[in-house]
Amino acid sequence: RQARYAALRDVEPFTKDGERINLMINAGLRDDVPLLNLTGADGIGLFRTEFQFLVSAALPQRDRQTRLYRDVLDTAGDKPVIFRTVDVGGDKSLPYLRAEGENGDENPAMGWRALRLALEREGLMKAQARSLLEASAGRTLNVMFPMVSEPWEFDAAKAVFDAQIAFLRGRRKVLPEQIRYGVMLEVPALAEMLDVLAPKLSFISIGTNDLTQFLFAADRSNPKLAERYDWLNPSILRFIRRVIRTLAGQQIDITVCGEMGGRPLEALALVGIGIRRLSITPASIGPHKAMFRKIDTRELTEQMELWLNEPVGDLRGALTEWADERDI
Ligand code: PEP
Ligand code: MG
Repeated sequence: RQARYAALRDVEPFTKDGERINLMINAGLRDDVPLLNLTGADGIGLFRTEFQFLVSAALPQRDRQTRLYRDVLDTAGDKPVIFRTVDVGGDKSLPYLRAEGENGDENPAMGWRALRLALEREGLMKAQARSLLEASAGRTLNVMFPMVSEPWEFDAAKAVFDAQIAFLRGRRKVLPEQIRYGVMLEVPALAEMLDVLAPKLSFISIGTNDLTQFLFAADRSNPKLAERYDWLNPSILRFIRRVIRTLAGQQIDITVCGEMGGRPLEALALVGIGIRRLSITPASIGPHKAMFRKIDTRELTEQMELWLNEPVGDLRGALTEWADERDI
């Protein structure tokens, strides 16, 4: 496996028409981070901090969190890392945090989880903010909040960071050189408010795993529905295309970080609607690099426009044929 990663490590994902596609990895454990250099990815577009919480028997203490984040940044070197604050609850329940709400949630995916939980468990959020700030002393901190549904939730989460910054400044501690804030776009309601929120953000990351389940009201962990909602569905692609259009002209990075972007045809479709940044499973980095070098984005964009404006019945079939004809 290592050899396969290494073979394409130094290949740069430039398309035939010279577009650079930014390919980053999703990670969550210390052991994932070396894959960054092994695959030659551009960074860690999604570091799921809850993994440390999920593999611990008790709430990880602040110094343990700080150590992990610092190690990750050290290993990543010059490459950016986007830390997502804890996304627990839903399909990721913690035995030691099973408090009010969660157990009683009949529908935990849309229940008391992620930022909703973190904002109420203020101690948890404060400790994580302090850890991230301390670990990023003198460097850039990229922090992202999960399951933001309304702009005020971003403001509330950022306020926790602002308070910790003030505290550290009071103690004359070294602060991050730069802090970039972002949100996951995975609750459809937020898409309607993006123009309002975007000026406060450096980036958004579209979480297609949750976005799909909420867009279609289809539980992501229910195997009976797994085959039913194809990611190559015009609703999802039109939705993402509209987000890109809403944000056109704003200084904001747009990444897709759900599993969708790791699949070849889905990645082609995403690039065809204007996505240039993908955060994906490390195993897909090499194959994606090789694939993108064979495409012309202008041709792909024109084709996707046609297919989305007057939706073809079988976009997967059409795109497969398109790719086959071009030996992609
Ligand atoms: C997503 O929802 O698409 C996502 C990337 O986050 P997670 O899978 O951790 O919920
Ligand atoms: Mg999610």
